[in-house]
Amino acid sequence: MTIKEYIKARKEEIKAEVAAMPKKPNLVIVQLNEDEASKAYVKGKLKDAAELGINAKLLKFPVEMSEKALLKEIAKLNKDKKVDGFIVQMPLPKQIDEEKVKLAVAPEKDVDGFHPMSALNPCTPQGIMNYLKHEGVEFLGKNAVVIGRSNIVGKPMAKMLLKESCNVTVLHSKTSKEDMARYLKYADIVVVAVGRQHLITKEFEFKPSAVLVDVGINRDENGLHGDIEPGMPVALQTPVPGGVGLLTRLALMENLLKIGR
Ligand code: NAD
Repeated sequence: MTIKEYIKARKEEIKAEVAAMPKKPNLVIVQLNEDEASKAYVKGKLKDAAELGINAKLLKFPVEMSEKALLKEIAKLNKDKKVDGFIVQMPLPKQIDEEKVKLAVAPEKDVDGFHPMSALNPCTPQGIMNYLKHEGVEFLGKNAVVIGRSNIVGKPMAKMLLKESCNVTVLHSKTSKEDMARYLKYADIVVVAVGRQHLITKEFEFKPSAVLVDVGINRDENGLHGDIEPGMPVALQTPVPGGVGLLTRLALMENLLKIGR
């Protein structure tokens, strides 16, 4: 199934689940940044919630808001019994320490799964795992390569693949191109989360049975591009746009339902 087909089918299931709930889950999205990417992400999340029958409210604050004032608002949301879960849309303006904000969100309301004590996983790796499992991708004893080691994608992705008993290798900015080629050649599952347009090209050799997951979002005047060149000769390659971004959005709603239950 393509990602779009999968999302459509899952949304129908979630809609039915929400419709059967005596109380609809309440999500709050806190937004400070006004950049185009943040605006698009927030719009997408609100649209998904509306479509699924989830109550979502946007709490918008000025971009010059102080860290102290934001932490106060987070404390209020933590206590508000009407709020099941909330997220603070990243990135945040420079005057605010993102790590402090991630730790301020009560773990039981942390639908983004960023808090170290949160029972939920971050939405991007969770969304990827859900889709790969749905597609019947095998994990046990398979060679998985994750490129990128960020706290919100690379590291949790590696941890989740390890939990499924993959042999996991994490590559990053200090990995040489020669080593990258060596690891990729034997990889069964590759997740690229770097943010460099077409870092991975057909120059690299892959197993024809490989599964390539492209997390990267790179914008230019022609639109959005992934970290992987399109049309790789492999079994499965997720597209950009219309790929991991949609899986991430869906996983946010699924995380909220896990809290609301
Ligand atoms: P980040 O900047 O925090 O991390 C990038 C990682 O890439 C770092 O760990 C770094 O070591 C590694 N890296 C940098 N240059 C490299 C190179 N030449 N070779 C190998 N590794 C290199 O980024 P992030 O937050 O993990 O996001 C990565 C990309 O994924 C970005 O394009 C971001 O926009 C995108 N993203 C997409 C979604 C989605 O829903 N589709 C979600 C999160 C992030």
